[in-house]
Formats: sequence, structure tokens, C-alpha cells
Amino acid sequence: MTLKVGFIGIGVMGKPMAKNILGAGYSLFVNDVNELAVQELVAEGVKRVQSPRELAQEVDVVITMLPNGGIVEQVLLGEQGIFAGAKPGFAIIDMSSVAPTFTQKMAKLAMEQQIDYIDAPVSGGVKGATEGTLTIMVGGEKEPVERYQALLEVMGKKIYHVGKVGAGDAVKIVNNLLLGVNMAAAAEAFVFGTKLGLDPKVLLEIISVSSGNSYALAAKMPNFVFKGQFEAGFAIDLQFKDLELAVQTAKEARVPMMLTNVAQQVFEQARAAGLGREDISAVIKPLEDLLNIKVRV
Ligand code: NAD
Repeated sequence: MTLKVGFIGIGVMGKPMAKNILGAGYSLFVNDVNELAVQELVAEGVKRVQSPRELAQEVDVVITMLPNGGIVEQVLLGEQGIFAGAKPGFAIIDMSSVAPTFTQKMAKLAMEQQIDYIDAPVSGGVKGATEGTLTIMVGGEKEPVERYQALLEVMGKKIYHVGKVGAGDAVKIVNNLLLGVNMAAAAEAFVFGTKLGLDPKVLLEIISVSSGNSYALAAKMPNFVFKGQFEAGFAIDLQFKDLELAVQTAKEARVPMMLTNVAQQVFEQARAAGLGREDISAVIKPLEDLLNIKVRV
């Protein structure tokens, strides 16, 4: 019998991920507060349900790909939430980027209802989501993780089972702390270089084969900043949230986080300038405005 899969959160990342699940032959049901996104998938053969509760009654496993832990909690524990509709043997795979402690709390509640809980956050952006080549960092018990390995392989090519529930989220916040710090640094460096009279294109070419290279620089400078194209992508609000997850988790673990805190404030400045929904590369704009410089090619 074909596995029935539910998907909640068909946004920038979730939509292409859901399309890949449908393309792999699974029976797919979706729920999202964005009616337009739902209609697009329904036109492609996905079935819609009115609430997460109804979704849980309909499918074997649900994937959530939501903006933050507060929304995941609402979708799981609300009156019309997943927990209200799920029967023993059901499974939840949360692929959103959230705090490991939050995931552990949800997993404990799930266990009390004999529901399996897996955290499986991703990296690779819209390109990886569309091409089904995401890196997926998985936390959870061995048996359910193995059971849903094939489903994860539809969305990602590099799948790492890194430990118990919450461990996937821990890897993800460490990774995204580096992305945030690198992006803020790349933005500062390129405004600086441009102010010194250097050609940003030449600067990128040289740094790409030198020790200052990073994913933030290699992917975001040519494709976003140089073109003046700042449509997310990965939104500044989400990067800010991920830095907050790192800062908060580090506080609980009593780990000093100098650079992460500074990087978070750089993104806060961009949010204050009204750039929260733009791509993380737009973090360069407040500094460009301050110096009346544009790093464009
Ligand atoms: P997004 O804002 O584009 O999508 C979120 C979706 O959730 C939207 O369709 C929205 O309508 C839906 N939603 C919100 N509240 C809901 C609710 N109560 N019930 C049902 N649906 C609801 O965000 P995104 O960029 O797709 O990111 C999703 C998650 O993946 C985030 O946790 C983010 O940090 C993480 N992530 C994003 C990227 C990226 O490049 N964009 C990469 C890796 C991980």
C-alpha cells in the first residue's frame, strides 16, 4: 500500500519539497494557511485538508516545514492540531529549523501518545529543495528513522542520522550560525572593498580561489548582491531566528558567543530597515546606504 504523506508549510522550501514527494509516487495531502500555495499544489494532484488534525486522521506520516517553533507548536498542539488527530503508530517529521530543546519537548509529548518524532532540518536552499539534493540532518530513534529513510531520500541526497531526537536541530543551528556570521562578514568586506575603489567582480574572482571564500560569498554575491536581486531565498527574518536559536541554546549551555551575537545585531539592523522578508544578502543594504555605495555589477 502506498504510504500516505501529509505536508504542512508549503512555502519557499516546502513547496518544491512537496512536489518531489508527489513526483516520487506518494499519496500527498497538504495544509497551509496560504490558500494560493495550496491551490497551486491541488492543481498538480495533491489533496487538501482543512486542518492539521484532519491531516493526521488521513495520513501515516506528516512533514512540517514551518517558519519557527512557535508555529510548529501551534500546528502540533492546537485544538485542531496534529496531536488531536493522530493515532498510535503515527509519525511526525519536523524539517523546520527549531531549537533542540523545543524538539525534545515535543518528542516527549509524542511518545506519551505512541507517536514517533523525528527532527530533520535541511540545508541547500531553494535550489536543493527543487532538485531534491538537500543536506538533511536527522535526529531520532533508529527504527523510525530507517522506516522513513526512503521518504527523506526523495528530498535530499546527503542524509546524516546524527543522534537522538534534537541532534539534527543542534547540527542545523551550528551550521546556520556560520552562515549568518559569514554573510554579515561578506557584506561588510564587499562594501569596504568597493569603497577602496576595487571592482567587486574582480574581488569575487580572487577571493573565490583564496582563503576568504565561503558559501555566503560564493552563492550570494554573484546571484543576489551584484544583480540587485534580493527576493528570498532565505529570508533575513529566518536567519535572525536561527541566530537567536544559537544564542539562546548557547546561553543554556554556558558557551560565550561573541561573533554570533554581533552578527545577529547586523541582521537586526536590516530588520529595523524593513528588510526582514528579503533575502539574507540584503543585509548589505544598510551599510551601502550609510556609505552611499552600491556593490553591483
Ligand atoms: P516560508 O515562510 O517561505 O514558508 C513557511 C510556510 O508555512 C508558508 O507557506 C506559510 O504560509 C506556512 N505557515 C505559516 N504558518 C502556518 C500555520 N499555522 N499552518 C500552516 N501553514 C503555516 O519559509 P521557508 O523559507 O520555506 O522556511 C521554512 C523553514 O525552513 C524555516 O524554519 C527555515 O528556517 C527553514 N529553512 C529555510 C531555508 C531557505 O533557504 N529558505 C533553508 C533551510 C531551512
